[in-house]
Amino acid sequence: MGTLKDRVSFLNDELNKHNYNYYVMDNPTISDYEYDKLFAELKEIETNHPELVTPDSPTHRVGSISTKFEEYRHEYRLYSLDNTYNAEELEKWYERVTKECGKAPELVCELKIDGLAIALSYKKGIFTTGVTRGNGIVGENITQNLKTVKAIPLKLFEPVDIDVRGEIYMPVSSFNKLNEESLTKGEKVFANPRNAAAGSLRQLDSTITAKRDLSMFTYTVILPKDNNSIKTHWDSIQYIKKLGFKTNPNIRLVKDIQGAIDFCKEWDKKRFDLDYATDGVVIKVNDLNCQNELGFTARAPKWATAFKFPPEEISTKLLDIHLGVGKTGAITPVAILEPVNLAGSVVSRASLHNFDEIKRLDVRIGDTVFIKKAAEIIPKVVKVVDSEEHFKLPVYVPPDTCPECNSPLVEREGEVNLYCSNPNCSSIEKAKLEYWVSREAMDIDTIGPSIIEQLYDKDMVLTPADFYRLSMQDFMQLDLVKEKSAYNMYTAIQESKTRPLTKFITALSIRHVGKETADLLVGELSTLDNIRNASAEELAKIEGIGDKIAQSIYEFFHTESNIKVVDELLSLGVSPQEGGNKISDKLSGMTFVLTGTLQNMTRDEAGAKIKMLGGKTSSSVSKKTSYVVAGENPGSKFDKASALGVTILNEDEFNELIKI
Ligand code: NAD
Repeated sequence: MGTLKDRVSFLNDELNKHNYNYYVMDNPTISDYEYDKLFAELKEIETNHPELVTPDSPTHRVGSISTKFEEYRHEYRLYSLDNTYNAEELEKWYERVTKECGKAPELVCELKIDGLAIALSYKKGIFTTGVTRGNGIVGENITQNLKTVKAIPLKLFEPVDIDVRGEIYMPVSSFNKLNEESLTKGEKVFANPRNAAAGSLRQLDSTITAKRDLSMFTYTVILPKDNNSIKTHWDSIQYIKKLGFKTNPNIRLVKDIQGAIDFCKEWDKKRFDLDYATDGVVIKVNDLNCQNELGFTARAPKWATAFKFPPEEISTKLLDIHLGVGKTGAITPVAILEPVNLAGSVVSRASLHNFDEIKRLDVRIGDTVFIKKAAEIIPKVVKVVDSEEHFKLPVYVPPDTCPECNSPLVEREGEVNLYCSNPNCSSIEKAKLEYWVSREAMDIDTIGPSIIEQLYDKDMVLTPADFYRLSMQDFMQLDLVKEKSAYNMYTAIQESKTRPLTKFITALSIRHVGKETADLLVGELSTLDNIRNASAEELAKIEGIGDKIAQSIYEFFHTESNIKVVDELLSLGVSPQEGGNKISDKLSGMTFVLTGTLQNMTRDEAGAKIKMLGGKTSSSVSKKTSYVVAGENPGSKFDKASALGVTILNEDEFNELIKI
């Protein structure tokens, strides 16, 4: 076993290597979370064993500089920020600050923009120099490039001599577009918007920077020494806003640390609705006198700290690519990973979408990959780490036969997936049965995939109709099924017989028909008979249903095997509730979009009420939306509704509208 000294030396080397990849090459090979963990470990050893601190320790330094640009010595030093991932440490920081200030100070909470720090100088209101943070003492002079960033005012509203600091960032939508373009040109992709912003800004040719969509939020001003009027950080932000700088609107003045913790919790959820990356919240003491008293460590201000959100991204090894067969026959590649902890859960599988995506990212078995969990629940592979090892691995070749039944795989016009050509492939049939019992469909939650596997393998359930032929005794023939669970499964199946028609239509696994389309069909045609008998032309006339979907619905109800299954279901007592329990036409012709958390009902319950009164719900806001119902913490739909001038109702107004 190595000594503590060896560990320190290892951590120093690792952190220095990652600093170089991150700051100089704009190409990190581990996630920020992993970096922060190594950094925290080194800091802890150094605190407990000061004799092991080396003069070049990364914990005493800020960033790094490259030799690409002219060096520029900052007049006022730039610092980093201490950070934490947990609320208790924020409380400890606040205790220390309170002690040193002699009072519990007010705090300002700002989003921590995940971009690149820069310092701007203005003389008599004219932009003169723009410099990267570099190592905090010396940065790179990138004035020419910064002049191409439209959010940086070239002339202020007042002719003042002033220095400000801010963060240059690339909007997430522009970052995705840039990476798409780079991939099609076979060029390098950036790991995240921060690296894309840094890479774009540190181009020797400023015409390249000008083509990149960069913006900036300003968050600090160096006030003139004779300043007497501005006494708080909050007021200083109002002041720079007045001078013409762009500041982030998501800022809050709070009384104490609890207010700051609430802000962090709120933004941990809402951050995914923003079009720029934020990796946390910066919490700053508001009173400038208190800030002066607290001062700085070698690396960071003591009057500020950063709370970092749980990581969205982490790197791990791709062990294998498994192939799944979905209910449509689409072959879906799934990444099998060395298990890692991401956003509070252990992840060992991630989505790779389809074979085009594997080719696009050049994913190879054995690669180190970045996986990401954003608003979606299933993590996905977003990038392969650029390394020598990668190029030594064999390029991944997609299969040409179904992993389950060995039938040839086929492409379908206009679609990116490969499909199994055998409609009776057992994987497709099992996937359809799994979907039948799923929550979105008939909601038979006591039956899981392993039960379906057994029922299918024993030829007891081959189509959804067979579920309704099963007795309690049938279930008791299965492995590990006792009387109680047999009873639960049997009764859940019986209860599902009277699910609403929308769920029944969804459960049929008609190609291109999910819950939304099923809603539209039932909303327009009301009964199963009407839907079964509608011509493709009639179906295509329904708003939201195009020719392709109409054709698919028509074909489904005119294919012999499907007709048989639907007839059998009905004769076995399945009786979908038609008309969605409509009780009035009060909201007829109106479309609602629901967003945010409602206090007295869930969004599903609100949707059911709308349908009972003849209205429709939709998941996206358009000019045709009649109302957006907004609960607490509404998402981007709220902003879109405001931009389009769609009427927004709060919960009370909505309750008033649905009163009958
Ligand atoms: P940092 O990014 O964690 O925090 C300091 C920076 O936050 C400031 O310099 C400023 O640029 C920025 N910031 C954004 N919004 C702000 C606001 N409202 N107010 C004040 N500052 C704001 O620290 P750092 O020193 O720039 O970088 C260290 C971090 O970079 C590490 O914690 C790690 O997450 C990451 N890193 C990752 C790797 C890697 O290999 N993945 C390597 C090196 C560093």
